[in-house]
Amino acid sequence: MANFDFDFFVIGAGSGGVRAARIAASHGARVGVAEVARLGGTCVNVGCVPKKLLVYASEFASAFEDAPGFGWERVKPRHNFGDLMRAQDAEIRRLNGIYEKLLVNAGVEILRGRAAFEGPHQVRVGDRVLTAKHILIATGGRPQVPEIPGKELALVSDDIFELREMPRRITVVGGGYIAVEFAGIFNGLGAEVDLVYRGDCVLRGFDQEVREALSEALAGRGIRLHYNTTPSAIHEEADGLRVSLTNDKPSLRTDVLLMATGRVPNVQGLGLELAGVPTDARGVIPVDRNSRTAVSHIYAVGDVTDRVTLTPVAIAEGHAVADALFGNEERQVDHGNVPSAVFSQPSVATVGLTEEEARAQYGELLVFRSRFRPMKNTLSGREERSFMKLIVDAATDRLLGCHMVGPDAGEIMQGFGVAIRCGASKADLDRTIGIHPTAAEEFVTMRTPS
Ligand code: FAD
Ligand code: NDP
Repeated sequence: MANFDFDFFVIGAGSGGVRAARIAASHGARVGVAEVARLGGTCVNVGCVPKKLLVYASEFASAFEDAPGFGWERVKPRHNFGDLMRAQDAEIRRLNGIYEKLLVNAGVEILRGRAAFEGPHQVRVGDRVLTAKHILIATGGRPQVPEIPGKELALVSDDIFELREMPRRITVVGGGYIAVEFAGIFNGLGAEVDLVYRGDCVLRGFDQEVREALSEALAGRGIRLHYNTTPSAIHEEADGLRVSLTNDKPSLRTDVLLMATGRVPNVQGLGLELAGVPTDARGVIPVDRNSRTAVSHIYAVGDVTDRVTLTPVAIAEGHAVADALFGNEERQVDHGNVPSAVFSQPSVATVGLTEEEARAQYGELLVFRSRFRPMKNTLSGREERSFMKLIVDAATDRLLGCHMVGPDAGEIMQGFGVAIRCGASKADLDRTIGIHPTAAEEFVTMRTPS
């Protein structure tokens, strides 16, 4: 290994790259990492973290609305968006510093700048060309925007974190995670929100009843849903933007148009052809179960491989690569049964199969459903209902899927992720004593399949 500058060189200091670099260094490898932007990647700078802070900020609105039912005087405090964004920036800067310390303390050399392959073992960062025995591509993804006239007038999720003025009206395009999360954020903060989605219900790929329950709740909270249509053009007008829609739908007027229409891998300018690493037509780098690309000493993890594009998955993949290369522990990440939450309002969380997937893969199913008004909504007068659903294989009694729409869904689902990983049966849930009074206890008290 002495002939190389590094034993392990990581391109991209995001979720997957930072974990891989730190663990490899802790196993004694000489490690370098290149980062063109801020340490921490998408999740820390323009993803999970600032998004969740905005969700917290916007949730106060419903707390203020609900408070009079509990004896509080009705209040409608003014919100200062600028203050929120300044506080958020400071927190992100703090986290950038923590990431730097984590890497430096682990002995990882940080190279600031855009990295590109110059050969299978050679990477250029700025004017330095370095060599590494093993290389990890962890460059993540970036938003993609459909080609429509006026698309340059639209914002993507990265831009939202740069806003300093609260828009009075926002139109969100898309029906995925980012679309429903930002629709909820701006609705809570007091904007008029239009959500435009080409399909007939948000969150394609989720359990159909979950999708319908969320759609109903979003509408109930005042988000205007425009399904089966998509923008055909964006025009600048004196008082904002006008968005023309397909299928003869009336155009919308808005201050901000957010395109939440998916993400593509970050491989442009990476010189993959010089390293011999192939991609598919979208730029996705295919890898095997050990995250190895077609070139045996080059690995790829995280969003650039488009397996399950979530932070904890990128982290697990990066950790596994470092352990396998330098820790003498070969271990594959299981991409099945990954729990996830959508921080919409109300939130959604899920683990395992949807009913539709389970029907296609298994014979007879037992499906347990609970739709109820959360206890807090009794005194508050809020009409919104929560929805919980369990999918069980009738032949073996094994729990196949667990889904929820309602407050704290993400917090509740983590434990059911463990249960499904352990192969829990419905009988195991039945034997479990509930925690009362909670919404979570519904998952262990549903007795009658419907
Ligand atoms: P990234 O974290 O994107 O890191 C890639 C890094 O590589 C970046 O820092 C980039 O600047 C750098 N880079 C790229 N090219 C080069 C180059 N040539 N040279 C040097 N550096 C380079 N996931 C969740 O689990 N929970 C959530 O709540 C959640 N919320 C999200 C909200 C939003 C708005 C978005 C956009 C994503 C969210 N995600 C969430 C997804 C999550 O952020 C990603 O799955 C995760 O960050 C992927 O990690 P990664 O290591 O693959 O890439
Ligand atoms: P998603 O893939 O979840 O959603 C993209 C949406 O855009 C879909 O509704 C899709 O429609 C629509 N769309 C795609 N192309 C077009 C087009 N040309 N015209 C109109 N609509 C279009 O991507 P996101 O950008 O929301 O998020 C990316 C990923 O990041 C997520 O999949 C998730 O893995 C991760 N993430 C995770 C979060 C979390 O864990 N809470 C939060 C945010 C992101 P259709 O469904 O019809 O294809």
